[in-house]
Amino acid sequence: MSKTDIIPTNFIENIIVDDLNSGKHDKILTRFPPEPNGYLHIGHAKSLAINFGIKNKFGGTCYLRYDDTNPEKEEQEYVDSIKEDIKWLGHVWDKELYASDYFETMYQCAVLLIKKGLAFVCDYSDEEISKTRGSFNEPGVESKYRNRSVEENLKLFENMRKGLYEDGSRVLRAKIDMASPNMNMRDPVIYRILRSTHHRTKDKWVIYPMYDFAHPIEDAIEHITHSICTLEFEDHRPLYDWVVDNCEFDPKPRQIEFARLNIKNTIMSKRFLKKLVDDGFVEGWDDPRMPTISGMRNRGYPPEAINEFCERIGVAKANSEVEPSLLEFCIRENLNRTADRAMVVESPLLVTIENIGEDESFEFDIVDNPQDENSKTHKVVLKREIFIESSDFALVPPPKYHRLVEGGKTRLKGAYIIEHVKTILDCDGNVESLVCRYIPDSASGGENARIKVKATIQWVSKADAVDVELHNFESLLTDEVEGVKNFTDRLNQNSRQIIKGAKGEPFVLEGEENKRYQFMRSAYYKRAKKVDGVWQFYRIVSLKESYSLM
Ligand code: ATP
Ligand code: MG
Repeated sequence: MSKTDIIPTNFIENIIVDDLNSGKHDKILTRFPPEPNGYLHIGHAKSLAINFGIKNKFGGTCYLRYDDTNPEKEEQEYVDSIKEDIKWLGHVWDKELYASDYFETMYQCAVLLIKKGLAFVCDYSDEEISKTRGSFNEPGVESKYRNRSVEENLKLFENMRKGLYEDGSRVLRAKIDMASPNMNMRDPVIYRILRSTHHRTKDKWVIYPMYDFAHPIEDAIEHITHSICTLEFEDHRPLYDWVVDNCEFDPKPRQIEFARLNIKNTIMSKRFLKKLVDDGFVEGWDDPRMPTISGMRNRGYPPEAINEFCERIGVAKANSEVEPSLLEFCIRENLNRTADRAMVVESPLLVTIENIGEDESFEFDIVDNPQDENSKTHKVVLKREIFIESSDFALVPPPKYHRLVEGGKTRLKGAYIIEHVKTILDCDGNVESLVCRYIPDSASGGENARIKVKATIQWVSKADAVDVELHNFESLLTDEVEGVKNFTDRLNQNSRQIIKGAKGEPFVLEGEENKRYQFMRSAYYKRAKKVDGVWQFYRIVSLKESYSLM
């Protein structure tokens, strides 16, 4: 009888189901192992979705483990931001762990390798090591320090720990095979001397383990069953297994590689994202244009939409590039269901409705979100002076123009039909304002509601309108051009466009800060922040894929 009837949906889950059914494992343990050297980005969301997805699907365990073995680049700020981002995405880790807590165990593992004749202290410099490593076609040359005695190696390694040698003067190398076709197996460096204050262990250590040595030990200590990483590590797997075997760990974790997420025109490397921050090209790691989790949160992306995107792209064994439109699709789909609708006029044109008195007003109820059957409603108030979108009136209408024209009629969203009376031009002949009349009883359900009009336009009453500033974002990178390799040559100088002077209905300020809205006819926006008395709204995503600024 099979142990699990859970249906696997990708190759990693196939392996897990086999391992459960064969009895190799009763319980599945995964981990998410970020290096705290930057903020998480959308690629990490993918890795999180896989590791925590397995935990949830198979009733397993998933740890958050900081892979903090490289003190020069790691900081507490990053540790904190990583936690916040993971929580925001909705994942719950079972334990918070740090590789640096295992430094003593790692040291003892290295001593064990030395005692077994499987590691030696090498006095070569970095350059000498890479010079003697050989190439794909050529075997490497063995170090002249390779045959030091166990006793000498133990003494030297202990002295390395004690800080008796200078940074970079010696390393500990695994003794494997300088002729291996796999370059990673050619006596790789497993420890280096480095005086750098670690964000947790401070100055306790002056030697630090290398990733390829540390990572398998971390996994083995924690009894991780499936250590999921990206494809670049496929060639490192023999070394991973070598470390686990020779350091005599049992049970043994298994490394599985999948294709990393790449999105067109999207920087997906902490190192490069940090450069954008350090160079001041963006406002910070959470700039709304950044593909970081905090940037996307600031921009207004719903976490559920990011997870849905990760789900839809699936888990592949071969690298490929995903279009950003797929992520945008997931966001739109989410916001269409969840965002309240609001009227905001980007380029206001004043309309005086001459048959509404100065002190007269009409109230209407508008459904917040027509996609939600339990939606609330909110009030809009029609007064004598309103703003409509300039482009919703045409003095010389182009063909098939259905909105307001001279002598024509149109419906005000949620309210009455209005009829054009007069156009007031400025001295240059541009439209300055309009005079219209409303048609009584033409609101929904009224006697004149059936009068034919071809369009419904948005509006806000002048007296109640609130000032809003729209911030529209484009990709940080322009399209790839042949020959341009460096991403800094592809930076989009126009990635933030600001529209000032827009007018919104009061409803856009009624909800909580960070509330997401659909501004009818334009895009989804988030109420972001108030600067100099004016609320800034960030464009989350346009309403349609082909949207471009008018
Ligand atoms: P970066 O190059 O951006 O610094 P990294 O791989 O060095 O990325 P880590 O902090 O080591 O960053 O990553 C933590 C986990 O997230 C690792 O398991 C890594 O494989 C995974 N990961 C990182 N980038 C991606 C990506 N683009 N797609 C999928 N998984 C990723
Ligand atoms: Mg890394």
